[in-house]
Amino acid sequence: MIDTHAHLFWKDFEADLDQVIERAKENGINYIIVPSTDLKTAEKVIELANKYDIIYGAVGVHPHDTKEWNKNLLPEFRKLTEHNKIIAIGEIGLDYYYDFSPREIQIEAFRSQLELAIELDLPVIVHNRESDKDIMEIISSYCGSGLKAQFHCYNGNINDAIELIKMNHFISFTGNITFKKFDSLREVVSKIPLENILLETDSPFMTPVPFRGKRNEPANVKIVAEQIAAIHKISLEELIRITDFNAFKLFGLGKNEAKTFTYRLGNSLYINVTNRCNANCTFCDRKGVATINHHNLKLKKSEEPSAEVYIKEINDPKKYDEIVFCGYGEPTLRWNVVKEIAKYVKDNGGVTRINTNGHGNLINKKNITEEMNGLIDTVSISLNSTTPKQYSELMQLDESFFYEMIDFTKKAKANVKNVVMSVVSIKDVDIESARNFAEKEVGVNFRIRNYF
Ligand code: SF4
Repeated sequence: MIDTHAHLFWKDFEADLDQVIERAKENGINYIIVPSTDLKTAEKVIELANKYDIIYGAVGVHPHDTKEWNKNLLPEFRKLTEHNKIIAIGEIGLDYYYDFSPREIQIEAFRSQLELAIELDLPVIVHNRESDKDIMEIISSYCGSGLKAQFHCYNGNINDAIELIKMNHFISFTGNITFKKFDSLREVVSKIPLENILLETDSPFMTPVPFRGKRNEPANVKIVAEQIAAIHKISLEELIRITDFNAFKLFGLGKNEAKTFTYRLGNSLYINVTNRCNANCTFCDRKGVATINHHNLKLKKSEEPSAEVYIKEINDPKKYDEIVFCGYGEPTLRWNVVKEIAKYVKDNGGVTRINTNGHGNLINKKNITEEMNGLIDTVSISLNSTTPKQYSELMQLDESFFYEMIDFTKKAKANVKNVVMSVVSIKDVDIESARNFAEKEVGVNFRIRNYF
């Protein structure tokens, strides 16, 4: 788990921070983000990040402290972000409940720090108390600028939350979602998509039930996680996996833990063989976020696991309808690994399918469809288009690859029980002529696949 918001420089932690960190680790917390409130606490954040491996930091001026704001602070914060464990600008925002600083200065500081974050391509951690209208106006004015934000300790309304989510921002909740009288906030939590939720404690504040009234600390993020999992009716493990990945997407923390080698869709198990491909399809998110159902399918070549890793995760292939070689990449680029896994699956009573672009013979410089005999039950080939020109435009490859794909399909027919040609359901692709082409001209099955 990641506690994305804990002010561990607060005097409440002076006496026992070592024990607080130990308790956090014992409770499954891998990272803690400590946001500053001004320049002095930003320096403390860096001291903590240097001392504790699990602490990362954010630097910025909290709205309460903007009464001392001046533009000369910006270069100082820019310099602090050069530290390799400073991963965000925060805590920044507006607070019209306490109004400790004049509102116009709060706004000026907020905007200046948002612009610094955009310039540095860092996410921001936003505080908002009773300033919804101005916060929404300001954040909306940066839509399309690349701004990425966490709205911490969210207690606004669902309509604003939905607007923020549409702008790809994240929402986090603290121990207040466990308070007895906060049914309306729990209602908001239930309507926020899981892929936009982060965990936090806001330590030393916002202590959850049953410790309310005592100092809060990062170990209690587990209580917040349990509450959100219960509201969304999913297991704690699933909630942790999703929120960890969300923290990775926003802050870049924990990417190694977030890697997915196998993932389940329906009752099939999918094998994420590689993120590499010889094509660059215009509709494919291979080079983007590359996620399916919150699973991070991004893999560098050096991170591609051996066949043993996949086999261990498959365990008993009979538990699944199919074992499918498919991710955001071309699986025949690792044909030897695919063969080894497929052999294990077939030897243990499972069913196999490979989803491919049909360039595997060219990639491997041999007819690999002959080697599919007895190992692969279904081969699904991306037809994409019936015209070489459109095929070439969609895949950003030479037109000759269209003919290579057709030749691969014909060879596969001789060696594999079930051969399918597929197209993605995007506008401009003529589905009916693709169906005709596959079924009548090539003589194989046809499938429309979802565009993700
Ligand atoms: S062939 Fe498949 S993996 Fe490769 S770029 Fe196209 S859609 Fe993505």
